[in-house]
Amino acid sequence: MIRMSAVDKHFGPLHVLRDITLEVPRGQVVVVLGPSGSGKSTLCRAINRLEPIDSGTIEIDGVPLPVEGRALAGLRSDVGMVFQQFNLFAHKTILDNVTLGPIKVRGLGKEAAREEALRLLDRVGIADQAAKYPAQLSGGQQQRVAIARALAMKPKVMLFDEPTSALDPEMVNEVLDVMTALADEGMTMLVVTHEMGFARRAAHRVLFMADGEVVEDASPDTFFSAPESDRAKDFLGKIL
Ligand code: ADP
Ligand code: MG
Repeated sequence: MIRMSAVDKHFGPLHVLRDITLEVPRGQVVVVLGPSGSGKSTLCRAINRLEPIDSGTIEIDGVPLPVEGRALAGLRSDVGMVFQQFNLFAHKTILDNVTLGPIKVRGLGKEAAREEALRLLDRVGIADQAAKYPAQLSGGQQQRVAIARALAMKPKVMLFDEPTSALDPEMVNEVLDVMTALADEGMTMLVVTHEMGFARRAAHRVLFMADGEVVEDASPDTFFSAPESDRAKDFLGKIL
């Protein structure tokens, strides 16, 4: 579902993605771990072209990512993204936050978009908040709206970049539970997180990044019990 081949990216002199080659099969849940600054966010942003790459190729479901234009807008909607900051539209209701993309980009009629949005909001447990504005919701609720909004675009892949890092601790699980359910339903997911419980429970595979490289690519069991590299051992020593 995701295929990256020899992807390189610099920010000026900084080599932030180094020769990244990886494949994520349909339905696989991949957790990306690694120290701050190792390139995890840049990897996610490259996958849906929020960030251009210097060289290499990225394909989603067999289709190479176009550089720009209409085709890019279409492919971007194949890749849903959820950020640390929820990025909801503050002056729109929860319902409008979820229907906007489907109406504008997918060309869905208002009523159909509304029905689908309510179904998605129900799925993430907040249909009763549909008429409210983002600021009236807790952080955990806002992040669940952000997930519903991404799902409303009918993505083939969901990228999560530290989706629970900005949340108060008591709200982390309500978001992880929604993500776990999505994983159980077979969504292809790439998840940058420091939540090791989620990684152990939901991931099929762990990628460990350091200095712009994928240093380890293993099952959660193998990675957590027998990391190979010193970088990974050091990282796990600090967080576990
Ligand atoms: P991570 O998400 O693993 O913390 P990032 O992908 O955000 O890492 O960043 C990787 C490196 O690239 C860091 O050193 C960061 O400072 C740098 N970086 C990220 N975005 C930019 C940017 N827009 N311009 C310059 N440097 C950047
Ligand atoms: Mg990051």
